[in-house]
Amino acid sequence: MSSTTLLIIIVAITIAEYLVSEWLSYRNQKAAISQIPPQLEGLYDAEKYTKQQNYFRTNNRFSLITSTFTTILMVVLLFTQTFGTLYNYCLTITTNTIGVTLIYFAIIFLVYDMLMLPFQIYDTFVIEERFGFNKTTPKTFIGDKIKSLILLAILGGGLISLIVWLYTLLGTNFWWAAFLVSIGVSLIMNLFYSQIIVPLFNKQTPLPEGELRDEIERFGQKAGFEITNIYVIDGSKRSTKANAYFSGMGKKKRIVLYDTLIDELTTQEIVAVLAHEIGHYKKRHTLQNFILAGVAMLIQLYVLSLTLTSTTMAEAMGVATPAFALSLIAFGILYTPIDMVTSLFMNSVSRRAEYQADNFAAKYGLGEELISALKKISVKSLSNLTPDKLYVKFYYSHPTLLQRILAIKKD
Ligand SMILES: [Zn+2]
Repeated sequence: MSSTTLLIIIVAITIAEYLVSEWLSYRNQKAAISQIPPQLEGLYDAEKYTKQQNYFRTNNRFSLITSTFTTILMVVLLFTQTFGTLYNYCLTITTNTIGVTLIYFAIIFLVYDMLMLPFQIYDTFVIEERFGFNKTTPKTFIGDKIKSLILLAILGGGLISLIVWLYTLLGTNFWWAAFLVSIGVSLIMNLFYSQIIVPLFNKQTPLPEGELRDEIERFGQKAGFEITNIYVIDGSKRSTKANAYFSGMGKKKRIVLYDTLIDELTTQEIVAVLAHEIGHYKKRHTLQNFILAGVAMLIQLYVLSLTLTSTTMAEAMGVATPAFALSLIAFGILYTPIDMVTSLFMNSVSRRAEYQADNFAAKYGLGEELISALKKISVKSLSNLTPDKLYVKFYYSHPTLLQRILAIKKD
């Protein structure tokens, strides 16, 4: 295959991905105006439903503009071989493989981030603001930006350096070592996420003594789950949207509740949400996800290793000899179709896990409370009640509200 043919394939995949996602989004918009199912009637009053439909349309239009912009940008960069030109320029700064790869990705990331900044600002301070979700102050926004850049430089830069070093050491056999390193890093991240990463962005305080804590602990005893770490996080610092999650493993495991959730739900509804989270833990979903993601990564690294020495790929990207950074970008695009299939599968596994966690809560007699909690959370975030079936298959990690209600009622 000539490098021109390969370049055309790479560009074609970029455009095809864009078209598929816009087609799915179009289907989803058509489905949004359909009749609300009887089980969900009355969830929104007329005024709130108009607001929801507006929010939905605004977000769709915004994401169409964003993805059109990034796709056109990508196609232009590929056809003009700018990625290769930039790499050759970086080689004039240093010829050290790790150094040149780091400088190269740093430039690409910073330029991309700057181009996306207006979109992010518009999303947070115009769209989310207009619909009453935004609580982020410009100061928090800038602080977040700086902190995540530093974090990315340390973690991302560190991981890239390590992987490129393994590549220079082991050649194309580097994939298994890179796999072990990545698994190690994500294990460490999982363990220390709550103690190191979260505090950079949010305040976490132990849930104070009182009715809520008593009820949660009582449920923990009933379910045979020792709850010692229950924290409240100041989610209200950025958005009014509510959430709860579970993190860490073994002794480090903790339950985190958004302050916005505590404000909105009754004690029993919160217990039901927690029962759902404990259900994930009891059914070993964290482990299951970890293993599946690991297998997906192993396959991906192996396929990557097969392409790293390809001169055709290097020439398609605009350099004469294979370079790790450029192969990574070309591979990232060529792998998109496989990635789509993987994510279809991962999402279906995740939706099944959500049903099981809901079922766990229902088994403890918290079905009705869970349903009312889910309804409140959906209304609060103006979520779409009638998503398109295919769209759900592609993008939803959770079943739709209606699907969950029906399944809980059956339990
Ligand atoms: Zn869940």
